[in-house]
Amino acid sequence: MVDPLAEYRKKRDFRATPEPEPAPPARRGNDVFVVHRHEARQLHYDLRLEHDGVLKSWAVPRGFSFDPGDKHLAVRTEDHPLEYEHFHGRIPKGQYGAGTMQIWDRGRYELVKIPSWEEAMERGELKVVLHGRRLRGEWHLVRTRQAKNSWLLFKSKDLYAGHSRASALGIDLDTTPAANVPLTLPPMRWQGEGEKAHDSDFVFEMEFAGLRTLAEKRGEAVALAATDAMPAAIAAGLRALRCHTAVLDGVLVALGSDGRPDPAALAQALAGGTANGLAYYAFDLLQWEEFDLRNHALLERKAGLRTLLSDHAHVQFVDHVAGDGTALLAAIVQAGLPAAIAKRITSPYRSGPDPAWLRLPAANAAAAPIPPPRRQAQNPPTPARWRPSNLEKVYWPAEGYTKGDLLTYYRSIADVLLPHLRDRPLHLNRFPDGIDGKSFYQREVKEGAPPWLRVAPIPHDGASVPHHVVDDLDTLLHVVNLGSIDLHPWLSRVGSLDQPDFAVLDLDPKQAPFVHVVRIARAAGKLLRGIGLRPLLKTSGKSGMHVFVPLQRGYSYDHSKMFLEAVARVLVRELPDIATVERMPDQRDGKVYLDFLQNRRSQTIVPPYSARPVRGASVSAPLFWDELEDDDLTPLRFTIKTMPARVEAVGDLFRKALDDPQDLLPAIALLEDVLRHG
Ligand code: MN
Repeated sequence: MVDPLAEYRKKRDFRATPEPEPAPPARRGNDVFVVHRHEARQLHYDLRLEHDGVLKSWAVPRGFSFDPGDKHLAVRTEDHPLEYEHFHGRIPKGQYGAGTMQIWDRGRYELVKIPSWEEAMERGELKVVLHGRRLRGEWHLVRTRQAKNSWLLFKSKDLYAGHSRASALGIDLDTTPAANVPLTLPPMRWQGEGEKAHDSDFVFEMEFAGLRTLAEKRGEAVALAATDAMPAAIAAGLRALRCHTAVLDGVLVALGSDGRPDPAALAQALAGGTANGLAYYAFDLLQWEEFDLRNHALLERKAGLRTLLSDHAHVQFVDHVAGDGTALLAAIVQAGLPAAIAKRITSPYRSGPDPAWLRLPAANAAAAPIPPPRRQAQNPPTPARWRPSNLEKVYWPAEGYTKGDLLTYYRSIADVLLPHLRDRPLHLNRFPDGIDGKSFYQREVKEGAPPWLRVAPIPHDGASVPHHVVDDLDTLLHVVNLGSIDLHPWLSRVGSLDQPDFAVLDLDPKQAPFVHVVRIARAAGKLLRGIGLRPLLKTSGKSGMHVFVPLQRGYSYDHSKMFLEAVARVLVRELPDIATVERMPDQRDGKVYLDFLQNRRSQTIVPPYSARPVRGASVSAPLFWDELEDDDLTPLRFTIKTMPARVEAVGDLFRKALDDPQDLLPAIALLEDVLRHG
C-alpha cells in the first residue's frame, strides 16, 4: 500500500514548519474543497479537493476567473493531509513553501458529469461544482500534454459565469453567517420624512408605487411574500437570477393606461389577467445562496444584487444616485411621482421602520427651487453654494485638461472620496495656473472665506489656526475651485487630533524604478498579513505607493510611527538592494525610501482618489493586492479620465480604511518574533 502523503512528509520538517503532520485519516469522504492563497516566492492559489482520505492539490499561479474564456495553468502538486483544510499561517524562511498561507475559500464540492475520480484521472478531465463563499458553480480541470503535472483550470458556462472579478457575488463574505432569511420577514421601512437631498452618507432611489414584497428563488421554486399569486412573467424573471438561492426586497408594479403605476392594473395582473409594464423592481438583497447578508452595508448588498440580475424585463434593478439626490428629486417632481427614498449607505437591513431610511416627498422638494436636471460629464458641474471661476483654464497643458475637467472629476467621485476627508483638518496646495504654474501651500482659512464653510480651530505653535474641513460636496468643490489639485487631509480627525485613524507607510521612489516599488509593496503586504493585519494598498498618484493599516481607537502617532519604523526595517533587511530608510535624498543610492515619518500630528497624506499635479493627470488609486502581479501596472493608468469608470466597476476599494479598524498589539508581538527569527 503506497502512502499518498509520503511526498508531503518528505518535503517538510515538522519541527520547523507550523503545517500539520498527517494523522491517520479519520474520515474518508469526497466533499470538502479548500483554496489557499499562498504568498510564497510567487503568489499562487492552491486548490485542494478531498478524495480518498487526502486533499488532491493544484497550484494555480493566476488564480480563479469567472470568465470561461480565461484558461489558467494549474500545476498538480503533492497530496496534502485532510488537516490542511484548516491550516493557515506563516511557513518560516528556509522551509518548503516559505511564506504566508491563508484560507481564501472553503466549502463543499461535488464531482459532476464524470462521476468517478478514477475515470476522471484516467481521462485527465475533472468537472466539479464548488459551493464556497467566493467560488460557485461548475469548474473544469483538464490535463495538458505540455508538461508533467500541468493542467488547465477554467469556469464552465453556467449561471455564475462571466460577471465579476474573483468571486461570484463580488463582495467579501468571509465572515457572513449561513442562515435562511424567511420570506415572512417584515420588510425594512423608512422612518421619518426629510427634504435634504444632499448627503454623501446616503444614496437616493425613486419610490415605486405598488405592492411592496420580498421575493425568493430557491432553485426553480419562486415565491412572493405579500401575495399567493405569481404572474408567469415575474416567475421567469426570478428564475433567471444568476444564483441558486436569493431573497430580494422590492416592489411589484403594473402600469395603467396613462403609463403610471396603477393599483387596479396590478390587482388585475395578480388575478391572472394581463397588465402593461408589470415588473418587480428589486432594491435589496437579503440572502444569497446559504448566506444571510442582512448585516452587510446597503451598498454591498446592492452591489451583490446587481450581479444577480440579468437584463430581464420583468425583474429590474432599482439603481440609485449617491451623495446628491437633487437632480433625481427634480426629475421625480417633474414626472409627478410621489417621493425619493434616502438610504444610509452603511446601514444593515433591519425589519420595520428604521431611521437609516428617510422619505423625501416630492411635495417638500417642489416648494424649494429645483436646479435643472444635470447632464453629468459633459458640462462642468452646476454650483450650489460656491461659485466656479476660470473653468476653461488649462491645468494640464500636455493633455489639454482644464479646471472644469478637474471639477467634473471630483464631483463624479465625491461619494467615494468624501468619507475619507470627513472631519479631518485639510491643508491646501494651490495651483491657480495649473501644474506648470506657481503653487503655494496654505493651512489657514483666509479672511473673506464663505460663511457656510466648516472651519476647525487647530492648535498650532501656540496659536489657534482655522483649518478647512471638507464634509460635503460644496466644500470639496470650493477648495478645488481655489486651485487645489491634490488634497492634504490629516491622518486624525477633529476631536481626536492626537489619535490617527490609520498608520501609513509611504513608498517614495524618487528616481527608483516603479518595479522596485511594486516589489517592496508586495513584501510589505506579505509581512503585514503574516502578522495578522489586513493592510490596504493604493498608488500615491505620482510614482509611489501607500500601504495603510486602519487602527482601532487608542493608538497615538508615536505608536503608529514606531510600529511602521520596525516594519520598514524588516523590509530593508529583506530587500537591502532596493529599499532604504535613509532620510537624506542624496544618500539613498537610487533606492525606494520607506517613509514612516508621516505618522505625525499635522502631517498629511493624499487620500484615495485625489488627483495629483503631475503630467497625465493621474490620481491616487486604491488597488487590489493581486494587481501588483499585473505586468502592465503603472501609476499613470489611473487618471481623472479613467477613475470614475473604475469606481463604478469596483466600488470604493478603500472603504475598509474607515470600516476595518485593527488592533496593533498582537501584530507588534508577532513582528518582534519576525525580527528575532527572520
Ligand atoms: Mn502552494
